[in-house]
Amino acid sequence: SPSTPLLAIRGLDVRYGPVVALSDVSIDVHEGEAVALIGANGAGKSTLLRTISGLLRPTAGDILYAGDSVRGLSAEAILRRGIAHCPEGRRLFGSLTVEENLRLGAATRRDAKAVARDLAHIESLFPILAERRKQVSGTLSGGEQQMVALARAVMAAPKVLMLDEPSLGVAPLITKMIFSRLAEMKAAGTTLLLVEQNVKLALSLADRAYVLRTGKVALSGAAAELADDPRVFQAYLGAT
Ligand code: ATP
Repeated sequence: SPSTPLLAIRGLDVRYGPVVALSDVSIDVHEGEAVALIGANGAGKSTLLRTISGLLRPTAGDILYAGDSVRGLSAEAILRRGIAHCPEGRRLFGSLTVEENLRLGAATRRDAKAVARDLAHIESLFPILAERRKQVSGTLSGGEQQMVALARAVMAAPKVLMLDEPSLGVAPLITKMIFSRLAEMKAAGTTLLLVEQNVKLALSLADRAYVLRTGKVALSGAAAELADDPRVFQAYLGAT
């Protein structure tokens, strides 16, 4: 291909003890693209994000970032390289305030001025974050916690932002807002890798998508084409 993918997953196997969660998974994410990972519960979507971000160790395969293997690096080293992970909601530091959570997101950054500017910017995008700046995160609503999780990942100023079900437990209006912010980030050059149960929503943001089924890539292609492909829905039903 003419350009090296920014992120290239090659033949990845991941197990939880005897449970094979991912088997021979290969995925490309090019710079500036939004790529969606879709599939039924237990297909391995979260496992893939957790492996890329250094939280899980693959038993086989490789993870290439800008052409270099990052397999085996610590989660902090992966973040420093520019890959941020926004986990499924409510995985915040619940005893810390909103502001403390956001500042932790920027812990790997040195430029204090740029961090302050980004904090002000993210608070302008999500005014609730400014209103609740001193509130302990664990006492926020599910949707509010999801916004803090997203904002915390954004505070790392990542090149690649990985999102695990940003719509989960979030009211439709807030989901809409989160997705329009993600579209703006993509337009500004951030590369997105998105896990999302809401297929229609995922395919509306993504350029391309991969359908995972029981730990394997069952189908991939342009989002616009997959949106009309009945095999996508068969994959959810577990049919072949
Ligand atoms: P969901 O949409 O339900 O979150 P998913 O596609 O993100 O699903 P994963 O959470 O990656 O799926 O799970 C993939 C497989 O690995 C499932 O069969 C799951 O039961 C198994 N699994 C996940 N985490 C663990 C764990 N900590 N220990 C053992 N098995 C696990």
